[in-house]
Amino acid sequence: EVTPEIFVSMIRNVGAAIETHKDWLSELDGVIGDGDHGVTMGIGWSAVGHALDEVSDNDDIEAICKRIAKAFLDAVGASSGPLYATAFQRAGASARGRAGLDGAAMVTFIDAAANGIRERGKAEPGDKTMVDAWVPAAHQAAQALQGGASTLACLQAAARGAEEGMNATAKIAARKGRSSKLGERSLGHIDPGAASTFVTLRAMAEALE
Ligand code: ADP
Ligand code: MG
Ligand code: MG
Repeated sequence: EVTPEIFVSMIRNVGAAIETHKDWLSELDGVIGDGDHGVTMGIGWSAVGHALDEVSDNDDIEAICKRIAKAFLDAVGASSGPLYATAFQRAGASARGRAGLDGAAMVTFIDAAANGIRERGKAEPGDKTMVDAWVPAAHQAAQALQGGASTLACLQAAARGAEEGMNATAKIAARKGRSSKLGERSLGHIDPGAASTFVTLRAMAEALE
């Protein structure tokens, strides 16, 4: 079971992974967007790191997620800021009243994040956005759970789903966000937000390995 303390270490690991992959994320965004996704994610996750320093022993996972969401909203002006903020806001709310996350609660958590992003950005699968990574992540995590997978294995399945979804964004033309201006010219390139989603979920899983 993922306790609040373990959850904080998972989120810190995401911050470190984003830092490592910053240049890659900006390169991807440079091809089909405005080239700042690594920078915006770096700013957001570093603000999250500071917010985690304020976490107290009384904070449950929902309270920690509220801090994460607020950090994103306050620090990131780019379109990805409110999307990740909503993801953590909604995922946190899904954990309300829980002392920790077992496999089923983790799957619900990921699903709530995916739906939050979908509703906030009004993008659907196939629009070439981070939704194309979040939706298969939630789907594969749920399938893993049905097969009796552990919390870690559910997260690993989510990361695999996100990776496959990220790779699939190269095969579709953008219909939402900045890159939609490129339309067909965005073909052949993966979506940066789908890539940061993969980095995020893989780092959450790796923290438990
Ligand atoms: P900006 O486009 O403002 O520079 P970022 O570069 O930080 O913001 O983030 C771009 C990413 O945000 C895109 O690659 C895409 O995945 C995601 N995105 C943009 N608009 C939407 C939307 N409406 N719904 C879901 N994701 C979106
Ligand atoms: Mg950008
Ligand atoms: Mg920008």
